[in-house]
Amino acid sequence: MERASYDVVILGSGCGGISAAAMAVNSGYRTLLVERQSFLGGRCSSVYYKDFIIPTGAPWLGDDGPLAKLARETGGNWEIRCPEPPQMFNIDGKDEAMPAKGGLMHIMSKAAGSEEEARKVMNAMRRALTWEEPSPLMSIWDWLHQYTSNPGIEMVFEWTAMHGTHLWEWPVSDFFKFFIVNMPFRRFGFAPHGAIALMKSLGEAIEAKGGDIWKNCPATRIKVEGGTATGVVVERDGELVEVEAKAVISNVGPKGTVTLAGRESFDSSYLREVTESYRPIATTIVWFESKKPYHEYPGWYNVVKDGKLRPVFHMTNLCPELAPPGKHLLSGGYRPDSCALPYDASKGVEMAIWDARNFFPDFDKNCKLLLAQTFWKDWPVQRSWPGYSLRTHKTPVEMLYNVGDGVLPEGWSGTHACVEDSRRVMEDLAMRLKPAAAEAKSQA
Ligand SMILES: Cc1cc2nc3c(=O)[nH]c(=O)nc-3n(C[C@H](O)[C@H](O)[C@H](O)COP(=O)(O)OP(=O)(O)OC[C@H]3O[C@@H](n4cnc5c(N)ncnc54)[C@H](O)[C@@H]3O)c2cc1C
Repeated sequence: MERASYDVVILGSGCGGISAAAMAVNSGYRTLLVERQSFLGGRCSSVYYKDFIIPTGAPWLGDDGPLAKLARETGGNWEIRCPEPPQMFNIDGKDEAMPAKGGLMHIMSKAAGSEEEARKVMNAMRRALTWEEPSPLMSIWDWLHQYTSNPGIEMVFEWTAMHGTHLWEWPVSDFFKFFIVNMPFRRFGFAPHGAIALMKSLGEAIEAKGGDIWKNCPATRIKVEGGTATGVVVERDGELVEVEAKAVISNVGPKGTVTLAGRESFDSSYLREVTESYRPIATTIVWFESKKPYHEYPGWYNVVKDGKLRPVFHMTNLCPELAPPGKHLLSGGYRPDSCALPYDASKGVEMAIWDARNFFPDFDKNCKLLLAQTFWKDWPVQRSWPGYSLRTHKTPVEMLYNVGDGVLPEGWSGTHACVEDSRRVMEDLAMRLKPAAAEAKSQA
């Protein structure tokens, strides 16, 4: 068997893995990033399909968030086009731009049809954010219904709770932490050449700093000796390669980490937590090529119609590069009524197409189905519902860490959470492991 040796080996190049790799090379560790797919970025990347560039997951990315900052610091090119105004609503046929200041109050009053009702909820929110945190045993739904049962306000809360879980599935305490965590991040938009271009550029920056990246290389085993991770076994060009490492960072999800390292390496309480926190959020997205955009607004357009909130992402209004000339990308979606039940993928596709056909005007004249994507199991919206995830990045195996959206820090979610995971892991690693070059220097 071929052999290689590094300070740190990272399994998986999703936001969690690639940010851990960037931080590791920036800290001077000899770093290897291993990815089973032919492309980097996992669920924050893109596929090329019939001359369109379609997201593998996250379409709405931060321009001032932790991943943008890390990518630029590492030397990658992080280009996001942000729409103006940042978000737009259409409430019962009338467009309402969301102002940068006082935006939530404005949208809530319009959706509720009552400023007084919106103010009541805003006051309760202010108290929850600045004075008394609501109980973690209460869902957003329970908390909200103490103050209002206005359907317009419920709709606005559905929009703020954009992770795919429902208001009754997300603990309200985690929801308010999410508000606090996300307050500093203001600029969001789309990547003009797809997230794949951002990830490719970050990968090149990691390599320019001396890190190695192996694509098309699934890890088949995490090696554990005497309770400590000592490396991994990876399949490369049809051969197995044994990679020795002082630390292993897994981005394949806590369940995948346990499978790769073997259940016998973990204690039973940890195994139970992994099982209980594994709550993949399911959804279906259907992409249509269209002769026309739905609306001229170039960003995230929230249409409230017939008692339903529909997000319409106008990516090609802002980034025509994502489609062949003269064509537009429209998307539709289906979310199950409960995230707790098994997902019926074929029903998801059927419902999403049915809904789009009824929602987009002149659908049959203008639109053609391009691609239907089901997100679930090992490619979900998130590996865990917010508030129910594993809270620790360390595992019972020494020098084996998890990063990614199966280990969400409180209040964090999506791509931002994955970078925060890596930051916490690197902070811990810095106390335990000197980069090989620094070690050699101190011994000389
Ligand atoms: C439809 C959808 C919409 C979303 N919208 C947004 C949004 O707008 N904004 C936002 O911030 N977040 C959004 N999210 C959430 C966000 O995409 C995820 O939380 C984030 O990308 C997860 O990254 P990760 O690093 O945890 O995992 P992943 O991206 O899943 O990365 C894991 C990687 O590990 C690799 N891998 C697995 N097994 C192995 C193995 N044995 N060996 C080597 N490699 C392996 C996989 O191929 C993959 O590349 C969305 C997600 C979906 C699905």
